[in-house]
Amino acid sequence: MPYGEHPQRYAWSTRLVLEPTGFQHPARCDTVLSDTGRVPETSTPAQRPAPCPCLSGNPYAECCGRYHRGEAFAPTAEALMRSRYAAFAMGEPDYLLATWHPLTRPDALELDADVRWIRLEIDRTAAGGPFDREGVVEFTAYSRSGGSAAQQHEVSRFVRMDRRWVYLDGV
Ligand SMILES: [Zn+2]
Repeated sequence: MPYGEHPQRYAWSTRLVLEPTGFQHPARCDTVLSDTGRVPETSTPAQRPAPCPCLSGNPYAECCGRYHRGEAFAPTAEALMRSRYAAFAMGEPDYLLATWHPLTRPDALELDADVRWIRLEIDRTAAGGPFDREGVVEFTAYSRSGGSAAQQHEVSRFVRMDRRWVYLDGV
């Protein structure tokens, strides 16, 4: 195939001929390109997407990960609660502070790296929908630290500021 018909491939082969192996035939360049293209396809099936710690059954990246990365706001108080639990589990203190009401938010937050959050159960929700201004989520979170297990039961209150749900307090 004459070089002149495929200026882009010619540019690619120009880069290749600079390598010590010497001249690369254009057909060889095609092989190199397709090999490069196959790499992600062959490596992807072996990697299972990590499940979300909130136990929604969805991959983390498509569940609470979207909120942690700032790509979307949790649409309900329960979704925010789940994402905050997932933030504890994934070690995202900045997200916890960002979704805390300014009146009750601590100045800083340090997560205990020894605590492993293993399960979240939503016991009850009240209001907290997309058109509500307040919401309540009662939950139990299960954790492990060292050899001992612990559970935390809380009734959390959430309020909507502008269009974002934030955590107010819990008892
Ligand atoms: Zn989640």
